[in-house]
Amino acid sequence: PDAGPQRDRVVTEAEWLRRWETSNIGFHKEQGHPLLQKYLDVLLNGRSGLRIFFPLCGKAVEMKWLADLGHSVVGVEVSEQALKEFFAEHSLPYREEPVPEISGAKKLQSTSGNISLYCCSIYDLSSSIVGKFDGVWDRGALVAVNPCDRQRYASLMITLMEKNSSYLLVTVSYDPNKHKGPPFYVPESEIKSLFG
Ligand code: SAH
Repeated sequence: PDAGPQRDRVVTEAEWLRRWETSNIGFHKEQGHPLLQKYLDVLLNGRSGLRIFFPLCGKAVEMKWLADLGHSVVGVEVSEQALKEFFAEHSLPYREEPVPEISGAKKLQSTSGNISLYCCSIYDLSSSIVGKFDGVWDRGALVAVNPCDRQRYASLMITLMEKNSSYLLVTVSYDPNKHKGPPFYVPESEIKSLFG
């Protein structure tokens, strides 16, 4: 189908924050995503102790899964409430510190050090701040990005990836005439043109 009806739709940061405040977070999955389990081997590709990035992370429980497997997890999320709920729901102690390079941003890091969650917009990040990653779990991230920001998002993600990194992307296939999004409909042809 033609993605046209959604092309100009914009969801603001304030709207996302409001969703968290009002618990309008139907996208959050208590049980974690079956596709991560299914494709975990593809993500890890036999490697251990990876740095794995969760763009637009919310309070995704998969961050805990991967940390428990010995990987180091970095996430970014505009809602501080989401990040605090993540640590609280997993009973993980954490500390907070400012991020000198980004005004107003905070980093919430598990005391054990293996989960670092940045509270800011993903567009404020760069590899000089967060480094590069061996793996990416993109679920509810590209499909949540405003259609007008997709190119910027994909270009940034590419700069955050190590040479041999793996990127697992979950999209949703549906008729964009019937739902205004998010999740937005991202046709496969567009994924190819964004990521090459
Ligand atoms: N990936 C998560 C959350 C998906 S919903 C999961 O699988 O559950 C998308 C999330 O992105 C929301 O929590 C929203 O607050 C956050 N978000 C939206 N725009 C953002 C931006 N520019 N930078 C960082 N986070 C953003």
